[in-house]
Amino acid sequence: MKKISVVVPCYNEEESIPLFYQEVNKITEKMKEKCDFEFVFVNDGSKDKTLEELRNLAKKDKRVRYLSFSRNFGKEAAMYAGLENATGDYITTMDADLQDPPSLLIEMFDTLETKEYDCCATKSTNRKGYSFLRKIFTKWFYKIIGHISKTEMIPGARDFRLMTRQMVDAILSMKEYNRYSKGLFSFVGFETKWIDFEIEDRKAGKSKFNFWKLFSYAIEGIVAFSTAPLVLAALVGVIFCIISFCLIIFIIVRTIVWGDPVSGWPSMVCIMFMIGGIQLFSTGIIGEYLAKTYLETKKRPIYIVKETEKDKK
Ligand code: UDP
Ligand code: MG
Repeated sequence: MKKISVVVPCYNEEESIPLFYQEVNKITEKMKEKCDFEFVFVNDGSKDKTLEELRNLAKKDKRVRYLSFSRNFGKEAAMYAGLENATGDYITTMDADLQDPPSLLIEMFDTLETKEYDCCATKSTNRKGYSFLRKIFTKWFYKIIGHISKTEMIPGARDFRLMTRQMVDAILSMKEYNRYSKGLFSFVGFETKWIDFEIEDRKAGKSKFNFWKLFSYAIEGIVAFSTAPLVLAALVGVIFCIISFCLIIFIIVRTIVWGDPVSGWPSMVCIMFMIGGIQLFSTGIIGEYLAKTYLETKKRPIYIVKETEKDKK
């Protein structure tokens, strides 16, 4: 019989975990004729009682495993750790807040069993429960990255997906430190079937992503999957060279024809400020890529585990 690993990153989810376990359990009951299950919870340095909840679950249910990080490493690191430690034939990543309906697992499993697909992924048709600003920025992010990245990013794509072992191994083979999973999932290729669903409000607890965290995550996505900003910096440089060349010709001709009255200091200062700004902006873009390269070369571990269910046996 096939085994499904359910990977769940958890950060301060003490209220959600019991609800999540209960809901997913209903589905595992329904599917028990077809496949086995394993839960891999990853406690991403929670400050509440998440770890205790996980210890209790692991005591109660042999299928429950957990990894607990030494501090908060972020959702990307938690997903990576979960995938790396999952032992199933099929592996799914799910948020702990039940925004992803576990009932879809049945359809996802059946899809993979046809052998036509390597992955069954979900995307939400709405963005219920998210702020106005977040909706607008998300829309723009997908527009921009759609144009500047060769890797396809599907608007509304969730991290909730069921993948074959082969696909997960491909994802794990990418050991990069700055991880942007939505891009990595797409980068590895494989046949993916998309299921649409209407997203629900979070069942308990609060969202862990505020505006700035999401904004820097978006920048991370762009830097990880496109070098277009570097080209942009160079392009602006070339355009300014052309403009200044034309202006030089214009000024020489004007001086020869009309003489050289001293004027135009205010405009000169404005232009200097603008060019200074553009130079700093371009240096900033290059700096962003350099910083990522710097972090990659350090080869720091993506996560550090402090405790697993085996330590408590
Ligand atoms: N999460 C995590 N580490 C973090 C932030 C979030 O493991 O640093 C987990 C969180 O516990 C949840 C999932 O990532 O299971 C998605 O988080 P959330 O629901 O807050 O994000 P949103 O739905 O607002 O995008
Ligand atoms: Mg959520």
